[in-house]
Amino acid sequence: MTGEEGHKDSDGSLRLVMLGRQGSGKGTQAQRISALYQVPHISTGDAFRAAVQAGSAVGLEARSYLDRGELVPDEVTIGVLRERLDGLTGPGGTKGGGFILDGFPRNLAQARALDVIVDGRGLDLVVKLEAAIEEVLKRLSARRVCNNCGAVYNLVDHPPEVPGKCDVCGGVLSQREDDTEAAIRRRLEIYESETAPVASWYQEKGLLAVVDAAGSPDEVTRPIVVAIEAALGRRGHRP
Ligand code: AMP
Repeated sequence: MTGEEGHKDSDGSLRLVMLGRQGSGKGTQAQRISALYQVPHISTGDAFRAAVQAGSAVGLEARSYLDRGELVPDEVTIGVLRERLDGLTGPGGTKGGGFILDGFPRNLAQARALDVIVDGRGLDLVVKLEAAIEEVLKRLSARRVCNNCGAVYNLVDHPPEVPGKCDVCGGVLSQREDDTEAAIRRRLEIYESETAPVASWYQEKGLLAVVDAAGSPDEVTRPIVVAIEAALGRRGHRP
């Protein structure tokens, strides 16, 4: 499994949630799984950053929360998620298709709201990427993101071929504005107090797979694919 080939059995209906501390590699893995299984990758963080850049009403409201590393209020966030899911067409979309959620849900209220949104078919799997605090702190300070396509790099273990340039689209790479020390500290605190209980909640529902986030992107993708295949097997690939 290289993470680059398409998945033979994929029918585009995988419904996956990715959890994990900031810097655990959620975004990178969500992009890889999205390509492998041909399901849309939905990142509420990306949606908020796009809204801020566009200067939309949601962006104006969200900006101060993003800058401080605080959670955007649930009403706004759930609205943004719903809009994204409703906008999916074809095999995606809330009516029967799949998605990979990256950065949602981040607290129990959001998890309950998601239950209602995906009512009926529910989720196939929740993957939690396990990474130590010291490791994520190192990764976040070395993280660079393409301003154009959102591809994620790490200057230490996944640098771009040409410094400062995206391998995928040639866009300019930069550091995220909320990858400052104070905002990182705050985001990690919120992860422990608000998001960690979400993992326990999914564990009780029998949906959680915990994957070690140490190692190369390929090494992390492999056990995620194993967990997905097991979950799809349990579901019997029903449409
Ligand atoms: P991320 O890219 O997932 O790290 O998200 C960046 C920022 O967007 C977070 O620090 C929050 O301010 C905001 N955000 C993203 N997803 C959510 C969410 N599910 N609930 C509340 N705020 C969120």
